[in-house]
Amino acid sequence: MARKIRMGMVGGGKGAFIGAVHRMAASLDGKIELVAGAFDIDPERGKLMGDELCLDHSRVYGTYKEMIEKELALPASKRVDFVSVVTPNNWHFPISKDFLEAGFNVLCEKPMTMSLAEAIGLENIVKKSGKTFALMHNYTAYPMVKLAKDMVKCGDLGTVRKVIVIYPQGWLARPIEKQGQQQASWRTDPKQSGAGGCIGDIGSHSENLAEYITGLKITEVCAELTSFIEGRPVDDDANCLLRFDNGAKGVLHTSQISIGEENGLSIWVHGTDASIEWHQEHPNQLLFKKLDAPVEILSRGNPYVAAKSPAAARATRVPSGHPEGFLEAFANNYKNFAETILLKEEAKEVDPLVNDFPSVAEGIRGMAFIEAAIANSKNNEKWTKLKH
Ligand code: NAD
Repeated sequence: MARKIRMGMVGGGKGAFIGAVHRMAASLDGKIELVAGAFDIDPERGKLMGDELCLDHSRVYGTYKEMIEKELALPASKRVDFVSVVTPNNWHFPISKDFLEAGFNVLCEKPMTMSLAEAIGLENIVKKSGKTFALMHNYTAYPMVKLAKDMVKCGDLGTVRKVIVIYPQGWLARPIEKQGQQQASWRTDPKQSGAGGCIGDIGSHSENLAEYITGLKITEVCAELTSFIEGRPVDDDANCLLRFDNGAKGVLHTSQISIGEENGLSIWVHGTDASIEWHQEHPNQLLFKKLDAPVEILSRGNPYVAAKSPAAARATRVPSGHPEGFLEAFANNYKNFAETILLKEEAKEVDPLVNDFPSVAEGIRGMAFIEAAIANSKNNEKWTKLKH
C-alpha cells in the first residue's frame, strides 16, 4: 500500500548548511516526511532545531545513539524508515554503521568515510544488513548529466579520449577558519574532514562526475595538492592528471582559493566523434559538439532528451524553460532512494531507473581516489595506482 516514508536526520542543526538542503529536497515530491532527528553535536541546540521544525518533542534526541535506542522501541509502523547523515565527515562511518546494524536504511553525505579501509568496511556492513544505502553525490542526479551518461553509453561521442573536470570555488581564499567560521573550521581540521581538504570535499564530486558520465574508471593519478593558506593542515587546491581504464586521459582541477569562483563544477568529455560540455551553474543545458558542425545546445525537458534518456526524463519535474537546479538534483536521489526502500519492503523488483542513485561502490571509488591523490602528491612519484 502506498504510504509516506519516514525520515530521520543526524546533523543539520541551526546554522548548518547542507541539512536544510536535504530537508527541502526530501520533501519536494510530498512522499517523504521528516519525523525525528538528533540535529546537533550540542544536544540543547539540537532540541531548538526540532522546535523550529515543529517536530514531536519525543522524537528529537540529544544524541544519535539515543535516537537509535528510542526509535527501536517504537512500533515498526512509527519508526523512521531511514536516516540522513549530514554531519562532518568524521561521523559518517560510525553513524551509518550503527544505524545499518540496528536495521535502518541510511542516506549519507560525501565523502563517505575518512579512509578507504573504512569505506570497504562499510560496504560489508551494508551487504550484511540487507538495507538500502545511498551516498549523496547530488551532481550526478541532474537530468542533463543523466543525458550525458546515456549519450556516452550509446556511442554518440565515439570512444572517449579525454575528460576535463574542474571544480573551482573561492570561499577559502582567506583563513576564515581562524575566525571560527563553522563550515571552514571542520573542513580544515584533518580529524574531522579526513586527510583530504579540497580534494576530499569537492574533488570527490569531480571524480564521481567524471566516472559517472563516462562509465570509465580512473586507474592512476598524478597529483599536486597545495595548501596556499599558511598553517592550514589540509590542501585547498589540487591539480591532477588522470588515466582511465580505456586509455583515455584526464585533467581534474579543484580549488577553494580561486577568488571569484562560486561553485564552478564543469566537465568536458571528448570522444573520437564528438564532445559534450556541462556546467553546474547552468545545469539545464548540455552542449553537444560534432566535428565541422555547429554546437548543439540540448535543453532539459524537451522530448528529444526523454527519447534518448529515460533517466533524464524521470529526473525532470517541470517543462523546458522553467529552470531546475540544485534542490531538484538532491530530490532526485531522495525519490529513487525512497522508492527503492518501499519496493524492497514489499519484496517487489526494483527497476534500474528507480535504483538509480549513488551508493557504497561510489563511496569506495571516492576514497580510493582521494587516498591515491594524497599519496601521489606527497611522494613525488609521477603516477600512483588506485588501490580499488
Ligand atoms: P555544517 O558544519 O554546516 O553542519 C554540520 C552539522 O552537524 C552541525 O549542525 C553539527 O552540530 C552537526 N553534528 C556534528 N556532529 C554531530 C553528531 N555527532 N551528531 C549530531 N549532529 C552532529 O556542515 P555542512 O557544510 O552542512 O556539511 C555536512 C556534511 O555534508 C559534510 O560531510 C559535507 O562534506 C557534506 N556536504 C555535501 C554537499 C553536497 O553538495 N553534497 C554540500 C555541503 C556539504
